[in-house]
Parts: sequence; structure tokens; C-alpha cells
Amino acid sequence: MPRSCCVVNCTNRASDGCRMFNIPGGKHAFAKNRRRLWLQAIRRADWDPDGPKGGESVCSAHFIAGEPSFDCDSPDFVPSIFPHSSITRDSTAIVARYERRRKREESRAHDERPRVMPVLESNAGMPNP
Ligand SMILES: [Zn+2]
Repeated sequence: MPRSCCVVNCTNRASDGCRMFNIPGGKHAFAKNRRRLWLQAIRRADWDPDGPKGGESVCSAHFIAGEPSFDCDSPDFVPSIFPHSSITRDSTAIVARYERRRKREESRAHDERPRVMPVLESNAGMPNP
């Protein structure tokens, strides 16, 4: 099996000159936890963090320093740079929300009442319970 990056939308392979790093595995609590964090970061919906899979690799493109760190304080303790960080379900939701708001504002523009944002009112007049 060719070593290719398991990150969704990443097509890097070892044969492209990318460094590949195995997703942590092992019975140790530290390794299990780290694996879980990696899989959370990678967000492969079809993966079970406790599953028996092995040999998955993540390429160096997903690490700030280009390689994983074993220091749990390091940002490279888990991979953090992903294509899906800009194209995600979240941003799809943001776009959908934006579209809904735009449509609402369009329909409001038809009845020509002026709209004032009640920002000051709600801050000044309504103390928190
Ligand atoms: Zn990759």
C-alpha cells in the first residue's frame, strides 16, 4: 500500500517527497489519548478512535514545524493545518446562515421601514438577571 496522507482532501504522498508520520497508536493511555486527539483533528467521520486500524499516516504539511511533537504543550502535539479548516461543514453552515440573512434583508428591503439596531437599548436598559 502506498504511503499517502490520510487527511481528507490532502493528496500528498511519500513519493512526492513528503515526510509521513504514523498516527499514534498503542495501548498506553498517553498514546491512546494522543491518537484520539489526532483523529479528532483529522476529522475522518468514518474512523473510530478505538478501532483496530493501523498504518494511517499524516504528512508533514499538517504540522506547523513540519513534524509532530511529543510535547503536549506544543501546537504540533496534534496536526493542526488542514485543507478542511477553510472548507468545512462549519463554513458551509456559515455560508448558509449568511444566505438566509441576505434573503431576509432582501425581503425586508421591500417593506421600506427603517431598521435601527437596538444595541444601546439592550445594553443600557436591560441589566442581566
Ligand atoms: Zn497531508
